[in-house]
Amino acid sequence: MTQQIWAFLGGKQVPEEDATVGVKTHALHYGTAVFEGIRGNWNERLGKVAIFRLEEHYERLLRGCKILRINLPYSVADLCKITIDLLEKNGFAEDVYIRPLAFKGEQLVANLNLNTVADEFMLVIQPFGDYIDNSRPLKCQTSSWRRPMDSSMPTGVKISGLYTTSILAKTEALAAGFDEAILLNQDGSVSEGSGENLFMIRDGVINTPSETDNCLLGITRDSVIQLAKDELGLEVVQRHIHRSELYLADEVFLTGTAAHLTSVGELDNRNIGTGETGHITKKLQDLYFKTVVGDQPNYADWCTMVTPSSGKAGG
Ligand code: PMP
Repeated sequence: MTQQIWAFLGGKQVPEEDATVGVKTHALHYGTAVFEGIRGNWNERLGKVAIFRLEEHYERLLRGCKILRINLPYSVADLCKITIDLLEKNGFAEDVYIRPLAFKGEQLVANLNLNTVADEFMLVIQPFGDYIDNSRPLKCQTSSWRRPMDSSMPTGVKISGLYTTSILAKTEALAAGFDEAILLNQDGSVSEGSGENLFMIRDGVINTPSETDNCLLGITRDSVIQLAKDELGLEVVQRHIHRSELYLADEVFLTGTAAHLTSVGELDNRNIGTGETGHITKKLQDLYFKTVVGDQPNYADWCTMVTPSSGKAGG
């Protein structure tokens, strides 16, 4: 017998097959939604799922809601509790992907005034393995699509409509035989991957595009900046990066909740460094993978440990 999977919609837990919306839902037509991608990482030793930086994800969700004028009846603490309760209810004892979505949920088309459309919130959780194969360095392509500028579309938060660009870029890169796309800004400087932030190492210094380079303010990005500075004593500079600097870098890697910390071995058919995962990237990967399962004592407060209830879904 298949196990019942539960979702959250309309203020309560419901069977996932009942968590549906109508065809006139505003967000479906106009992308008027803000989402998060959160990982729960299974820690076999502890028999718990470590949800990574849960509060920070919901703080970012609420920042996006502020911009889109979505008023949720929930605080960050409420959203964390809703998530923990749903994870427990589903009982997944494996890696999971947690997807909250705050959206303009009214059945209302031909209305472009955010202030007159009612809001809704939903949450789904699903088992989730690798998003990208990070056992080997990726082959990336500079996309023909440019990252929108914040003056056209807010870029620091996860607004659904913004993802059309990422999806076009990723699809183009995969169709051309690459693993991932790197998007440039309108001025040709480097922004980020289709669903990841970008880091470049030259002469032992870590560089990453700054907030004003239209990249998402990634939570993995923030975590890696802290780990690099505090655990490895490395300098991290947030600045404008030229496309050609990437070709000449010693190491390049991408960070994201889904993609984790993934080395880039080639860009536009040129090797980055030797083409293998560089030694700083490797050190950061080792630290990162320990941290996200709750095995790095200094950063234990980044993980919300949840014990799956037995006899429910998952396994
Ligand atoms: N950039 C984009 C466009 C993304 O979709 C993501 C994934 N959320 C990231 C960067 C990385 O952000 P985070 O580390 O918060 O997942």
